[in-house]
Amino acid sequence: MEEIRKKTIKGIKIRSLNLIMLSVSCILYILLICTTIQSMRRYDNMVSTTNQHIACEEIISLVANGSNYLTEQVRLYTMTFDTKHLDNYFTEAYTTRRRDTALEKLKEYHTDGSVYAYLSSALENSNQLMEHEIYAMKLISTAQKQDTAALHENIQNMALQTADQNLSAEEMTEKARDLVFGPDYQAAKADIMDDIDYFVDSVIEHTQQNQTESSLVLKRSLVRQQVLISILFVENLIIFFLIIRLIINPLQVYVKNIKEDKRLEFVGSYEFKYLALTYNNIFELNAANELSLRHQAEHDPLTGLINRGAFEHLRQLFAAKQSPLAFLIVDVDKFKQVNDGYGHEMGDRALQKVAHLLEDSFRSTDFPARIGGDEFAVILTDLTANPKDLVLSKINAINRTLQNPSDDLPALSLSVGGAYSEVGFTDDLYKKADAALYQVKENGRCRFYDEASDHIE
Ligand code: GH3
Ligand code: MG
Repeated sequence: MEEIRKKTIKGIKIRSLNLIMLSVSCILYILLICTTIQSMRRYDNMVSTTNQHIACEEIISLVANGSNYLTEQVRLYTMTFDTKHLDNYFTEAYTTRRRDTALEKLKEYHTDGSVYAYLSSALENSNQLMEHEIYAMKLISTAQKQDTAALHENIQNMALQTADQNLSAEEMTEKARDLVFGPDYQAAKADIMDDIDYFVDSVIEHTQQNQTESSLVLKRSLVRQQVLISILFVENLIIFFLIIRLIINPLQVYVKNIKEDKRLEFVGSYEFKYLALTYNNIFELNAANELSLRHQAEHDPLTGLINRGAFEHLRQLFAAKQSPLAFLIVDVDKFKQVNDGYGHEMGDRALQKVAHLLEDSFRSTDFPARIGGDEFAVILTDLTANPKDLVLSKINAINRTLQNPSDDLPALSLSVGGAYSEVGFTDDLYKKADAALYQVKENGRCRFYDEASDHIE
């Protein structure tokens, strides 16, 4: 029975809901963490691209400054013949090595071949230009008859062309100046600067491309994060709403119902509905038990009529009510002889028969009760006048039935004493009915106590 009813329960299971919400939350949080990691990576990428850009600018200035410094020093030497400039030149070329440092730094940052190619081409051109510059410096040092041994080994190792060896000092100086100031030199320098410019453009393009790409991905990640956080917020709201609807509200309703000793309503989650079903089953069982116990406490087990205790309770109730009522005491005549002659079991059946006849003869508003061994009582309520004639005819009818048994029971008769009151169950009503019974006992009849003459009628 319970199984069938259990199947009819419909509702959301908190356990399943909890599992679903937990899974959804886990997925959302994992996605959020992944997106955050992606954003962080993109941010780092942007920072490193910016750092690369800054580093490239430094590299560019190293190359340009290094190259220009060499030009400057060689030119100064050709103009002033001061070997100090010659020393400066070689210190820059082989010790300070700004251009080479720049190339090494570039290798650290850029693997992009084309970008690297521009700068290495600039450096190559610059190195080629150095040949002309050293040759120009050799011409000057020869023209000025400077001490070759004191000069840099590159000057010592540089051999003058045969045609130049025969030139005068002025012509050598003129040629040297032409080598470092002339249009060929200017063109070579311009080539170097062009390569540097191409390099700058490439670096800027590379940086911009990387930053645009990174900022796009970063923006997308941030939008995804916002969406995920919004979904998590909505999920939290749903969880709060469901907790109120499925747990808190039913708890409040159940506490109220239990306090008021009522059945539980089917509200909330599946678990609460199942709890209500179980509680209600126990509730009904308790109610049935209570009813049965009450019935047992109030009724005579042999005849099923209300017992002495319940009768006393009724008596008090009708004493308070103060409405017209009649009270009968019924005694089975010579009942002892039934027990003695036919046995106790037969006696019991005789008592049951009397009880049934009393129940059948009176109305549902009257209360037959067993108040002693073979003694019964009837309270007749809802009266407008003394019902003694009616009672007499009913008792006579019962006695006729008992006298002519259609079963195996012996013939029986009842003696009945009755009393009537217009103001409820008065204190002396029992005594009056008892007095009337006493009078009729021997005759097996029914008498009523006469109020007017204060004697038994
Ligand atoms: P009287 O006409 O004067 O009333 O005589 P009586 O024999 O009926 O005498 P009394 O009322 O004193 O006897 C009642 C008898 O009912 C005594 C007792 O053994 C018997 N009795 C009481 N309760 C039960 C019962 O539950 N079952 C049976 N079988 N007998 C009972
Ligand atoms: Mg008796």
